[in-house]
Amino acid sequence: MNFTLIALLSCCLLLICLPSYAAEKSANSQNIKGPYSDFDTEQFELERKEMVKYQIRDRGIREQLVLAAMLQVPRHLFVNSPWRDFAYSDRPLPIGHQQTISQPYIVAYMSAAAKISPESKVLEIGTGCGYQTAILGEIAQQVYSIEIIPQLAQRARQTIDQLGYENIKIKIGDGYEGWAEYAPYDAIIVTAAPEKIPQALIDQLATGGKMVIPVGIWHQEIIVLTKTVGRIIKKKTIPVRFVPMRSKLPK
Ligand code: SAH
Repeated sequence: MNFTLIALLSCCLLLICLPSYAAEKSANSQNIKGPYSDFDTEQFELERKEMVKYQIRDRGIREQLVLAAMLQVPRHLFVNSPWRDFAYSDRPLPIGHQQTISQPYIVAYMSAAAKISPESKVLEIGTGCGYQTAILGEIAQQVYSIEIIPQLAQRARQTIDQLGYENIKIKIGDGYEGWAEYAPYDAIIVTAAPEKIPQALIDQLATGGKMVIPVGIWHQEIIVLTKTVGRIIKKKTIPVRFVPMRSKLPK
């Protein structure tokens, strides 16, 4: 057999084998476990486990329901490329319209501070990409979320529907007014920072409920507000940097 013939035969063999190798590789990278198997991969699942361990658990968040929710929700589906590969990194990321998805630790921190149980009815202000919404949807019985930028609300709704959450309602509107129709809420989580706590949100919080809200302009802190009979208790917690809560719908 001469050299040309050997080279030709090797090429043919490579062409036959490559497609089946690629198909096998892509089948392996699809994680078949879990309800999100169509969208998840082993690589993202691994990064999610590490995120929960190093960024959340090791920093002191031990609420099992929160940790389980953060392990479950495919954060990479809530951000667009080119950011998708950084979805599990320890930072906020752009989601368009000058807004950001919060850092994983902050999402976990707020969810834990709100003391949400499987019976809770929760209001979220600032849906953004819908990631925190999905985390709340994993833990609570029912979640209502308000977003002021229509395009973000629509995209979040799409992602949430794609993942099959039936206990989440999203509306386009102004969070300063809350969502009176379904009040009172056992917990309210606000993910944009107002200058002071909106009165409508305090009114819509159930007695015994908790609101977790970043407050301030330059210097912001997360305040955990507890409503008891005839009393509002406000506790300042960690310093943060959130986008400002707008007081008007964008034109
Ligand atoms: N939890 C979101 C955070 C998004 S950033 C996420 O992880 O993706 C804060 C969001 O609050 C932005 O999407 C912004 O448009 C929204 N927002 C700002 N002011 C608002 C208001 N008055 N009512 C409702 N949403 C508001």
